Amino acid sequence: MPMGIKLSILSDDSPPLINRSVLPNCSAHCPIPMTNAQHLTPGTLHAQLIHRTQQAKHSGALQPIATDYELLTDGGLTFIVRIVTNLERKAKALKTPKPKDFNPFLPYDDDLFVSDLSDQHLGLLNKFNVVDHHLLMVTREFVSQDTWLDVADCLALAIVLRELEGLAFYNGGWAAGASQTHKHLQMVPLPFIPDRPDLPISPVIAAASLQSIGQSQTLPFVHAIASLSLDWTAPSHTLAPQLLTTYHELLAAIGLPWQPDTADATGAYNLLVTRDWMLMVLRSQPSFENISINSLGFAGSLLVRNPQELEHLKQIGPMTILKNVGVSL
Ligand code: AMP
Repeated sequence: MPMGIKLSILSDDSPPLINRSVLPNCSAHCPIPMTNAQHLTPGTLHAQLIHRTQQAKHSGALQPIATDYELLTDGGLTFIVRIVTNLERKAKALKTPKPKDFNPFLPYDDDLFVSDLSDQHLGLLNKFNVVDHHLLMVTREFVSQDTWLDVADCLALAIVLRELEGLAFYNGGWAAGASQTHKHLQMVPLPFIPDRPDLPISPVIAAASLQSIGQSQTLPFVHAIASLSLDWTAPSHTLAPQLLTTYHELLAAIGLPWQPDTADATGAYNLLVTRDWMLMVLRSQPSFENISINSLGFAGSLLVRNPQELEHLKQIGPMTILKNVGVSL
């Protein structure tokens, strides 16, 4: 196993294809549409992720963004601030003219394909990754990133979280930091940096000592946290509806209640999910003073493009930035 990646694999006793007959009351509670698509062979995602990363680095399909980092303490949280050391590659790629409706996930680059996940989702490498082994869980067909998450999305989430220990997240809308309109959940393995096993936000969540859903006094913006006590050895299709229920509870808790009659979400939010907790943050804008924030920002990991931007971030303070891209309390 490469340095700096902590992945654990759980075996899934569930059959490789979802069989509706084994799902109690499935049509009522978890209408996971079925296709003939290939599924993940349980216990293989870690190996496929490592293998595809090596190949894609070699072929040049993967174009990692190199960074240094600094730790910055503000508002009771020690943030990791990454500073890009060479943005030229991505800038060059972005300069290449693309049609207005270009979709990098349909068709996707075969060299970035990691694995089939489920009927609805497949796993791709993030082409411009800042951390190694950054996985995208992409819908096979086009679905808008602005739609609510559904049980199929939660199934992809459950499949990946059972296999890899890390932070899964969803940038729910442009104002939440999403750059692509084709629906994609994401997963970055832990640890973020060597010698620091936890996420920067982890102590804040632990200190909130929640039984179910609540808030942290430390975070000065609208948010809700759920502690998860799920049996991650259970089959993914039993975990998915449980994740979906918690997602709906968090939406209600931040004042953005799920509306089954509207496909599109009625506001922007970030969703962060580990095996132990979910955090949701209501968003008002994608950036503050030119510093862009997505879900990783609320995990305590920020990215700046150059040393000037780092200085600017230090002057403002990371917590002030989060407060401004969220909704201040
Ligand atoms: P987000 O910016 O949160 O919407 O996540 C989308 C991610 O897709 C970004 O982090 C990009 O680096 C990544 N990306 C852009 N183009 C491609 C591509 N052709 N294949 C795979 N990932 C891509």
